[in-house]
Amino acid sequence: MPNRPGGDPPVIVVGAGPAGSATAAYLARAGVSTLLLEKSSFPRVKACGDGLTPRAVRELIHLGVPFNEEDGWLRNRGLRVFGGGHELELPWPKLASFPDFGLTLPREEFDHRLASHAQAAGAILMENTAVVGPVFDERTGRIAGVRAKTPGGEEVFRAPVIVSADGVSGRLAGAVGRWTNQKRPHGVAVRARVRLPKPPAHSHHTEWMESHLELWDGPREAGKLMPGYGWVFPEAHGIVNIGVGSVASTAKAPGTNYRQLLTKWMDSLAPRWGFTAEDIIDAPRSAALPMCFSRQPLYARGLMLVGDAAGMVSPFDGEGIAYALQSGRYAASAIAAALAWPAGPGREAALRVYPDRVKRVLGGYFSLGRVFVKLIEHPAVMRVCTRYGLPRPQLMRLVMKLLSDLYEPRGGDWMDRTIATLARLAPAA
Ligand SMILES: Cc1cc2nc3c(=O)[nH]c(=O)nc-3n(C[C@H](O)[C@H](O)[C@H](O)COP(=O)(O)OP(=O)(O)OC[C@H]3O[C@@H](n4cnc5c(N)ncnc54)[C@H](O)[C@@H]3O)c2cc1C
Repeated sequence: MPNRPGGDPPVIVVGAGPAGSATAAYLARAGVSTLLLEKSSFPRVKACGDGLTPRAVRELIHLGVPFNEEDGWLRNRGLRVFGGGHELELPWPKLASFPDFGLTLPREEFDHRLASHAQAAGAILMENTAVVGPVFDERTGRIAGVRAKTPGGEEVFRAPVIVSADGVSGRLAGAVGRWTNQKRPHGVAVRARVRLPKPPAHSHHTEWMESHLELWDGPREAGKLMPGYGWVFPEAHGIVNIGVGSVASTAKAPGTNYRQLLTKWMDSLAPRWGFTAEDIIDAPRSAALPMCFSRQPLYARGLMLVGDAAGMVSPFDGEGIAYALQSGRYAASAIAAALAWPAGPGREAALRVYPDRVKRVLGGYFSLGRVFVKLIEHPAVMRVCTRYGLPRPQLMRLVMKLLSDLYEPRGGDWMDRTIATLARLAPAA
């Protein structure tokens, strides 16, 4: 154990992605000493669309992370949706509970800034520190620490509460027997980044996050329709993040080569955006998207799961950053309150506030998502929805609120009330 001031910290957070850094920042702000262990060192590349919806922006506001344009953030007004031969611009809804803009920032910078933010709040960040397994209290069977490979050799770090924020691999949770539920929806996504030789002259190109509900490997209708959906998210400095993904109602292995699919789709996009293969600055990278609380329980016996480690990607739109940040906020709040109790049943009850709160707020919505995925994984259903839904702007505004989880949980207009009622009626995942 390294000689840190104050001895062992009361909380260890494993993984400094958005979920881990948010948890550590909130804990440090609450005066809880926190050790944040990260296997890589910043800045590091991460496969992502780099897109933040207003839900994620709201979390940045909660965290107090600034997002000025001069620091490389690019704001957007909403989604431009393509499908069934239609093209529709859908501004982010105007709601009391959320800002009305989204953002993009490469994950290389985004994650670095969040980790630095946690450090500035008082968390101790240890990079190049890969957690390789749990340490148990032999008397109680609870997790009591972790073993980690550090530049100085293997070390043991002990704490009464451990947070697993190690992403989709969920290695730590797996080591205590919390396996992925194969019956929950899962996605796969791959992305590349391109520097446009001629940055778009008009903001019309950069102020919308493009979402393509159909992927053609050539001109529309003349080419072949490929499985999945695609996106083009403009970033600052004339860069675009281009990706494809798909979602299935269970964790079955996809039969598609998504890297090849991305390359083909990029060929078809190139003329419109004016780039060639030479302009790719960040080669295709892929990863799985764990959805709908695919790993549970979210808290038990000293180990709490946040973000992708708990399977918190939205089945509706593949968004995971907002939920990673939000779960970090809830986790830190429960842990800070629990540590005011001595070890024992009072502390355990306070820690269980976390899963209860996450399920209450997000559970119904994720359950609706499971139904949604079951429907859209049939291409025929998807095609009918795209062809007949997209030309109906009022219906699409409702769909956008539903898909991006942007509705007033209480009050609001009829669309907000419809979605909120459905989410309340659905079982809490
Ligand atoms: C291609 C693609 C595109 C996506 N696009 C978007 C998008 O545009 N918007 C969006 O909101 N979401 C998107 N997502 C989902 C999003 O990337 C994730 O939901 C999000 O990164 C989850 O954050 P996290 O902190 O839980 O996990 P991660 O971001 O995966 O962070 C986990 C951290 O833990 C570290 N770690 C792992 N194992 C260990 C260990 N053993 N010891 C120590 N540290 C460890 C990792 O190095 C990493 O830093 C996309 C995903 C993919 C694959």
